[in-house]
Amino acid sequence: MVPILARFLTPLLCLVAALVALPHASDVPGEQLASLPYVICALAALIALIAHQGRELATALLAILCYWLIRNHLQAALSTQPAGQIFSLLALWLPIAIGALLLLPDTSWRHPSGIIAVLAAPLTALLMSGLFAINPLWFGDQASALLATSFHGLKLPTLAAFLFIGVSLLAVFRLLWRNNYADSSLLGCALLTGITLGWFQLANISAVLFATIGLVLLINQVLSFLHIGYRDELTQIANRRALHKAAKELRSNYSLAMVDIDHFKKINDKHGHDLGDQVLKVVAGKLRQVGSGGKVFRYGGEEFCLLFNGKNAEQTEEELEKLRQTIAEYDMVMRDKHSRPRRQKNGIKKRGATPRKSNIRITVSMGLADSSVADGAFERVMKAADNALYGAKRSGRNRLKVAA
Ligand code: GH3
Ligand code: MG
Ligand code: MG
Repeated sequence: MVPILARFLTPLLCLVAALVALPHASDVPGEQLASLPYVICALAALIALIAHQGRELATALLAILCYWLIRNHLQAALSTQPAGQIFSLLALWLPIAIGALLLLPDTSWRHPSGIIAVLAAPLTALLMSGLFAINPLWFGDQASALLATSFHGLKLPTLAAFLFIGVSLLAVFRLLWRNNYADSSLLGCALLTGITLGWFQLANISAVLFATIGLVLLINQVLSFLHIGYRDELTQIANRRALHKAAKELRSNYSLAMVDIDHFKKINDKHGHDLGDQVLKVVAGKLRQVGSGGKVFRYGGEEFCLLFNGKNAEQTEEELEKLRQTIAEYDMVMRDKHSRPRRQKNGIKKRGATPRKSNIRITVSMGLADSSVADGAFERVMKAADNALYGAKRSGRNRLKVAA
């Protein structure tokens, strides 16, 4: 699935599931239901702590703090004080806290900005509750006035409703721009907390929706670990571990091609390692376009592997030959990012003086084998493809050899 779609789907599907589950929540014993958000969010916080996820830890702690406030200070009618005042303050403070987490960089909780992310919400809440304890009237008028302007029958003050809409849009933009799991969880947090406060009068809404915030965090944590485990960081295609996982799903009939960039060391030596990295990304992008149901993996270094489940070598040879030709004919225009001056003015001067674009022609050699080799044992088919690849190298490179 397209990764960006998954980042949106996780919070949205969890939200739908929570809304469907809400009317049935009264079937669960009250005490158990009330403790569910603490348990799930604490689990997400613990995982974030172990995995050094700064913003995830901050989001889980924020959810726990808000839920605690709701359970301990907002069980009275909101028309009474101080419940009404606390509710209004929470409705204003929460979207601002979520917005701050969306704007912070994605760091470990041990990094200064991670420490700010984790501490900002509890400290501002503590400060506000301290001021509130000293003199509730400092907040009294504003809170009542805000609550009086409720938004189309929602419990939310109008300003808070706009803040929740604004922070949800900010989360959408951050997600489109940064495509990050923490932002996906924050989108879920903005939607779920906004809906909780907006329809606060509904029975069990805070328990169900805050438990769902923890669930969104947990799902995104699992997805992010899978991403780290099975994706190659540079090219963003599947890695060698994913290849071994895919090998376990193969049918009895399959073919496998090993692909190696020709004279890649020379490219690195001549143009630098960064440009070498760009070449790897471009080649990965081209290999990704493989047809015939092929899947591409980065095997390591400048070697890739293409796997065709349910197809033998004869059925995939033509596709691979096409791919090899496409790469050989592709004129790669590479920009050396690191020679680019920081200031635009200097950049224009330098552009005029020295061309920074390099046109590079790349070729790849390929070795293809299928499951008819050595009873289809994966390691042996791979060895046969590797031998065929070295045959292609020996006979002049930029060619495809099929294992005999
Ligand atoms: P051949 O045509 O025989 O395959 O020659 P080659 O130069 O491509 O092969 P060789 O194995 O001698 O060199 C591979 C080079 O790939 C050496 C290594 O520095 C480089 N390399 C491996 N991984 C990366 C990477 O992630 N980025 C960059 N830029 N270079 C890498
Ligand atoms: Mg190699
Ligand atoms: Mg090579």
